[in-house]
Amino acid sequence: MPLDARIYVAGHRGLVGSAIVRALKHRGYRNILTRTRQELDLTDRRAVDAFFAAQRPEYIYVAAARVGGIWANNTYPVDFLQTNLEIELNVIRAAHDHQVKKLLFLGSSCIYPRVAPQPIKEEYLLTGLLEPTNQPYAIAKIAGIELVNAYRRQYGDRFISAMPTNLYGPGDNFDLETSHVLAALLRKTHEAKVSGSPAVEVWGTGEPRREFLHVDDLAEACLFLMDRYDDAIPINVGVGEDVSIRELAELIGRVVGYQGDLAFDATKPDGMPRKLLDVSRIHRLGWRARIPLEEGIRHTYQWFLANATARP
Ligand code: GDP
Repeated sequence: MPLDARIYVAGHRGLVGSAIVRALKHRGYRNILTRTRQELDLTDRRAVDAFFAAQRPEYIYVAAARVGGIWANNTYPVDFLQTNLEIELNVIRAAHDHQVKKLLFLGSSCIYPRVAPQPIKEEYLLTGLLEPTNQPYAIAKIAGIELVNAYRRQYGDRFISAMPTNLYGPGDNFDLETSHVLAALLRKTHEAKVSGSPAVEVWGTGEPRREFLHVDDLAEACLFLMDRYDDAIPINVGVGEDVSIRELAELIGRVVGYQGDLAFDATKPDGMPRKLLDVSRIHRLGWRARIPLEEGIRHTYQWFLANATARP
């Protein structure tokens, strides 16, 4: 992308969108378009169309989505399916109608079958049943990938999809009901340390394994793919290594400086037993994640302390 390209980052207030905007600014891009939800409701087709007609974006990162952790997915299935479908339909259609040069749609690793062989290769998509706790979200994202590819096939549009693994970093959601595990455990561990509580509650058995990618690494990958990738296969973006939830909780305990125990609550769901992406495709293209997990957690903890803790 030329440095004066008109680039629209949909969802710039979110974890991913804000990291993409940071990365673009850092590289010197000058024409970054953003709209808050109040300014532009992406579920409103006419508003989206009017925005594209007026602003004529040339490149688009679709990082806008209704997202959340295992509890939120289970509790708000309509929101996760319907809102995400509406956003995808409106933004991808408008990108075609207004001759956008390139679009990158962000999916998620939960689109893959619940019991896929590990690590998960891109071609395992639609080869088995989904994890029920996030099936509505996964089906919305799969529909988005299909729409991207339909536009590629029918019109030759340069639209692509990327599938990030579990993400974390500055700007994450630290609300205990709706957050993902890393942010939730960081907050719970911090609060346990401050209050002198003897144990941190960890949902599930601690056995599931997850891969965690720092969002600044993902943003770098998104910029890289916009320039270097033009294929119908939705490309995995991850680190290629995973940890158990127990190991994650222990690592967070070390970073926070918490001496107490872990209390596993097996009445809460485990979700997918393992979710590790095969990242050989993006490695072959020449990109790999840089930020080690412990360093990334330290960095995120600093951000949390500065931004997300309740002020006295
Ligand atoms: P998932 O990757 O889609 O399953 O979503 P999450 O990040 O929400 O959960 C990942 C795993 O961490 C699941 O096995 C959860 O049960 C477990 N987990 C342990 N403690 C927590 C917690 O406090 N919050 C969340 N969201 N997950 C937790």
